[in-house]
Amino acid sequence: MSAIVAIVGRPNVGKSTFFNRLIQRREAIVDAISGVTRDRHYGKSDWNGKEFSLIDTGGYVLGSDDIFEKEIDKQVELAIDEADAIIFMVDVESGVTGMDEDVAKLLRRVDKPVFLAINKVDNPQRAADAVEFYSLGLGEYYTLSSINGSGTGELLDALVKILPETVAEESELPRFAVVGRPNAGKSSFINALIGEERYIVTDIAGTTRDSIDTKFNRFGFEFNLVDTAGIRRKAKVKEDLEFYSVMRSVRAIEHCDVCILLLDATRGFDGQVQNIFWLAQRNHKGIVILVNKWDLIEDKETNTIKKYTEKIKESMQPFTDVPILFISVLTKQRIYKAIETAVEVYQNRSKKVVTRKLNDIMLPIIEHNSPPAYKGKYVKIKFCTQLPTPYPQFAFFCNLPQYVRDPYKRFLENKLREHFDFNGVPVSIFMRKK
Ligand code: GDP
Ligand code: GDP
Repeated sequence: MSAIVAIVGRPNVGKSTFFNRLIQRREAIVDAISGVTRDRHYGKSDWNGKEFSLIDTGGYVLGSDDIFEKEIDKQVELAIDEADAIIFMVDVESGVTGMDEDVAKLLRRVDKPVFLAINKVDNPQRAADAVEFYSLGLGEYYTLSSINGSGTGELLDALVKILPETVAEESELPRFAVVGRPNAGKSSFINALIGEERYIVTDIAGTTRDSIDTKFNRFGFEFNLVDTAGIRRKAKVKEDLEFYSVMRSVRAIEHCDVCILLLDATRGFDGQVQNIFWLAQRNHKGIVILVNKWDLIEDKETNTIKKYTEKIKESMQPFTDVPILFISVLTKQRIYKAIETAVEVYQNRSKKVVTRKLNDIMLPIIEHNSPPAYKGKYVKIKFCTQLPTPYPQFAFFCNLPQYVRDPYKRFLENKLREHFDFNGVPVSIFMRKK
């Protein structure tokens, strides 16, 4: 779980330019491998060895100009709620604007770290113009140029200094997050799980903010539900904008072991759901897909579920080894099965394969299908081992790790999935030099 940093500010100050500068290096590689269209406003970055999630809130501004200002205020408020630190970006070319002052007013009341980033300081002359931003009452500021990169290092140094250390994942109980688009039926599902309040065992206080985990004992399973407080709070904010659901999902996903991704059967596995799926996958979380409101699908034939499943799996490529259940919260159909499956995925995710057993199975397979020669060189894989990480990662030791291409790594992953159940769990494969 890494800290969440939100970039706020009015349009055109350079938020997405800055965001891309920080994210690109890593994401480009990931995209090439997975072929997944990613959410261009959320990504992972790292500086001085500290990893954090970065959200470009401006990327989610929708709608006409007159609701603009109100939207920005709402986004800032949500960023304040959900992020661990905030980068407030302004533009030295335009100087202080009324909208900047409005945002600053909100930020002055916050007790979270706020970094005032004065962008477009492309040359030293412009650094002098930056002093007027003291008037925002936010104290020290950082001048930078998102285009040429100058000054960004100083900002990042200061930022990562205050971020909490990446917390090692450890909890005795599975942590489930119920995520999905607005109206998918998340609250109804949670209410069905909660049943009556007596199933709630305790509220566990979060470390940096109000409670994020609520402990449940239901259907004979004990688990923590992540961020139910946020979901209950929902009554206050109408989550009709993509931004809200993404922001909420990011936080819930970062904190959970298994994402229970709910979708509305009548709407399907659309772009926004795919984004959430991608978020979960990128964060190495277990995933269970629940196609909810199955009661609304009429004329179901023997093949309906099969066809629906195939269609979803097409959009999930290449990570398709994920349980997909067809449920109805309304009629309580397969609710128990859903939780049972989430528990299984949790167990798959914490599974440790003994090295000897792993090699007994994998080495003969590799012998029969060794990596194809690359540039006339032969790769010899000698042994493999599961890494001691909270989620499954495997290292294959060989003479020429750089020559093993992605298709072969996928082959290895598929074989691992065939022999050891990793249903619902992203698996990483690394080639290491030996
Ligand atoms: P956003 O709306 O806040 O995300 O802003 P964008 O990142 O889309 O940038 C708005 C405009 O400012 C674009 O034309 C960028 O090329 C430009 N821009 C961004 N950063 C800089 C910078 O550091 N210097 C200069 N001169 N222009 C910049
Ligand atoms: P959320 O925004 O994801 O929390 O969704 P809600 O739980 O508020 O549900 C949105 C709407 O879908 C409500 O009107 C629910 O009654 C309805 N709904 C939820 N689950 C089902 C279901 O299984 N079948 C049907 N027909 N409606 C459902």
